[in-house]
Amino acid sequence: MIQLSFIEPKIRLGNKTMTQDEYNAQRERKRQQNAARYNSNVRFTVDKQYSDFYKSSAWRRVRKQVLLRDKYMCQSCLRKGIVKSIDGNERFFVHHIVELKDDWELRLNTGNLETVCATCHIESHRATR
Ligand SMILES: [Zn+2]
Ligand SMILES: [Zn+2]
Repeated sequence: MIQLSFIEPKIRLGNKTMTQDEYNAQRERKRQQNAARYNSNVRFTVDKQYSDFYKSSAWRRVRKQVLLRDKYMCQSCLRKGIVKSIDGNERFFVHHIVELKDDWELRLNTGNLETVCATCHIESHRATR
């Protein structure tokens, strides 16, 4: 018993460089492969969930409500004192203040939605990252 636990580390030390490193490298590779597979599965499911959501009639209805409420003006520009309305050429977005990935429950909550121009939309997503 005592002898075994004394000898074992010695053997491991002797073989160390190749075996242990190789083993670790292999294990790390496996771990990364699994993680990648897991991530792509999750990402696929989540992306599907999001794209289905954006195609849903419930979303289209709420989106329209928010555009009307905001009078088709970028709320973010408005806060800076700029009136930027949908009459321009710029594309408008109805943006989730708390993003879908952070709170799925708020996806149709108009309090969590606001109309923003393309520029502000990019800005707001950059800011939260
Ligand atoms: Zn804007
Ligand atoms: Zn957004």
